[in-house]
Amino acid sequence: MSPNAPPPIPVIPAEAPLPEAPPDDPGSEAQAHAHDAADPFAPLREQFFVPVMAAYGERGEGASRPCAYLCGNSLGLQPKAAYGAVRQELQDWAVLGVEGHFQARRPWLTYHESFTEGLRRLVGAAPGEVVAMGSLTGNLHLMLASFYRPTPARFRIVIEEDAFPTDAYAVVSHAAFHRMAPAQAVTRIRARPGTRLIDTEDVLNLFDRQGRSIALALLPGVQYLTGQALDIARITAAARAQGITVGWDLAHAIGNVPLSMHQWGGGADFAVWCSYKYLNAGPGSPAGVFVHQRHAERTDIPRLAGWFGNEPSARMAMRPDFVPRAGAEGWQLSEMPILSSAPLRASLELFDAAGWAENLRRKSAVLSAALRRGVEWAASARPGAEAPLRVVTPERAPERGAQVSVAVAGDGRALQQRLLRQGVVCDFRQPDIIRLAPAPLYNSFHDVWRAADALRRAVEQGW
Ligand SMILES: *Cc1c(COP(=O)(O)O)cnc(C)c1O
Repeated sequence: MSPNAPPPIPVIPAEAPLPEAPPDDPGSEAQAHAHDAADPFAPLREQFFVPVMAAYGERGEGASRPCAYLCGNSLGLQPKAAYGAVRQELQDWAVLGVEGHFQARRPWLTYHESFTEGLRRLVGAAPGEVVAMGSLTGNLHLMLASFYRPTPARFRIVIEEDAFPTDAYAVVSHAAFHRMAPAQAVTRIRARPGTRLIDTEDVLNLFDRQGRSIALALLPGVQYLTGQALDIARITAAARAQGITVGWDLAHAIGNVPLSMHQWGGGADFAVWCSYKYLNAGPGSPAGVFVHQRHAERTDIPRLAGWFGNEPSARMAMRPDFVPRAGAEGWQLSEMPILSSAPLRASLELFDAAGWAENLRRKSAVLSAALRRGVEWAASARPGAEAPLRVVTPERAPERGAQVSVAVAGDGRALQQRLLRQGVVCDFRQPDIIRLAPAPLYNSFHDVWRAADALRRAVEQGW
């Protein structure tokens, strides 16, 4: 067995009982280990490479100790099977050359099809509605080109004030593309003052007030900064009732929370995502697109076309006319990047073994609740008027994903750097947010315990 070969994949039963989340304080280290021993998902951690503390500068005895890696919302860990999956394609290339398009174990010409069923499960899509392709931002442009069709009366495009920058750039550039001033065309939904969260009622009120002038709304399934899970069903239904085209950015939602994009609210028009966050497919791995069935056969909307979106018979005949494939596959442009796609296969197998997001979510809710309480316990080490740490992520499980976002009073970057030196890997986002994301596929109760313990000591010592 090569050193990279993972152990056999355990299959996690759908109803396997989980340990209770620790109460108000995170308890002892031994208790955290006991929780892990009682966690039916725990063996899945062995399927991943977990970075050791040497990666973050530890040179002493602790250098080979695994990190508490709480950054899977930014870059998911590498499945050990990813290596074998990439090697298979390299071998097929070496042995077959161009014939690999047809004769590779998974022929490259139709490689994207090997992801369709898994992505369909994760997104909650009907047949034909998803495809693995491209990059998130690139796909967003393709979707906006097809679905943002402003008219003099209905021209607004709605995003959130704190949208991930690339989403805002894409939207603003489409306004310009249609010769409109962004200030005129782009309407931004603000978070409620003090909470930083988007209130569903504010979104619905905006649709009520300005619905007839709104062409398209683009919102995040899970907000990247706060970890808030939006009410996709209600917002989609309200948009559709007003004739607004609605798209979702699922970058932080896919593989994190259960999704039902085909059905919720009558079905969103489109969605996009990347696969290197909770999907663990590696940096630059291929993203994906959902296009609702109702658009599957439409020829009356424009699209930025490429030969992989063409009917396969027409494509290989090199015919000059473009005849789009039905469904999401009709938006493909190019051949898949096979080498960077292969790890997604390994990752989807792990989701399958885990019982997909529906089953994993049970662990995620307990683990993130434990982390939330751990942060509050750490904050209570310095009682006073202003809490040094404040969780901004919603407390109720249906309103959040795996991530716990903490607003820091004081030097947030210094605190994050201190955590990093202790092997607690998390990130800092301006102006004051530390994001900690326990991913249920590989994070443990002990990881959460380490984060709480490190935060408590930092607060006690004024970091
Ligand atoms: C991670 C993320 C992206 C990343 O876009 P790329 O095109 O993959 O670089 C975009 N939008 C959101 C909301 C994200 O969280």
